[in-house]
Amino acid sequence: MIDSHSHTDYSKHATGTVDELVRASIAAGVKILTITDHAPFPVDSNNRLLEAELDRYFADIDRAQQAYRGQIKILRGLEFDYMSGSDAYNRDLLARYPLDFAIGSIHYVEVPGEPMVKVWELPRLAAEAFLDRYFANLEGLVACGLFDAVGHADTLLRGLPEDVFQRRFEPLLAPLACSGMAFELNASGLRKSSLAPLTGQEVQGLWSYPSQRLLPQLIAQDVPFTIGSDTHAPEDAGAGVAELMRALRSLGLERISYYQDRRRVNADIDTLLPEGTSTTLDQGAARS
Ligand SMILES: [Zn+2]
Ligand SMILES: [Zn+2]
Repeated sequence: MIDSHSHTDYSKHATGTVDELVRASIAAGVKILTITDHAPFPVDSNNRLLEAELDRYFADIDRAQQAYRGQIKILRGLEFDYMSGSDAYNRDLLARYPLDFAIGSIHYVEVPGEPMVKVWELPRLAAEAFLDRYFANLEGLVACGLFDAVGHADTLLRGLPEDVFQRRFEPLLAPLACSGMAFELNASGLRKSSLAPLTGQEVQGLWSYPSQRLLPQLIAQDVPFTIGSDTHAPEDAGAGVAELMRALRSLGLERISYYQDRRRVNADIDTLLPEGTSTTLDQGAARS
């Protein structure tokens, strides 16, 4: 199993050390784990790595790589925040720390005349003014060329109907395909709450994201996919990844990628599912 999105207590709102996450991931059957704590950023700086912690963070990952060699491949990642105007800050961080994988995600959106929207404020996600800014930022994220994958772009489905999301996303399909970036399939949508379509009440247990409607369009554009649990606690290591792959396999998903040294490696989904027999990974095309 591949898990390309995971957090430790370095993110502050997540629990478990690097070592605890790695041991839990091994127990959950993860063979390739990318640790992607929230990168330093000027916004909400108490809920992420501090710049002063980065050396220790990567040293912990490197130590775990050595300690668990042969049991699991561990890769160095970060989940970056994207807001318009953040390119110089993120570019500087990327230049200073060699990574295997850089996710670009949108968690905060500035809407004129309103308090900043956080993408987990579910009742605010369907507002037109918010959607205008969110999709403008998503366009900027894809265009900036800094990241390997766009993280949980469809997390808005926790509070937004699929058809609205799909219509808003469609203009980004071609730019995304041109960028060479991967679209992340984030399994946390299987365990997070969402607003029930009919009542608007926040409920558990409904599949909100990844978007099942968008998937065939992304596949048709030959956009690569990464996959991750987005675990924030060792007990959620690998959570939902196998389930998600099985469900999306039936919708036509054939390949999952991960990144090593910022280069894409492709794996046939049939070799990743537990009932698969082959474990061969083929080296994919270099990141464009
Ligand atoms: Zn995120
Ligand atoms: Zn995350």
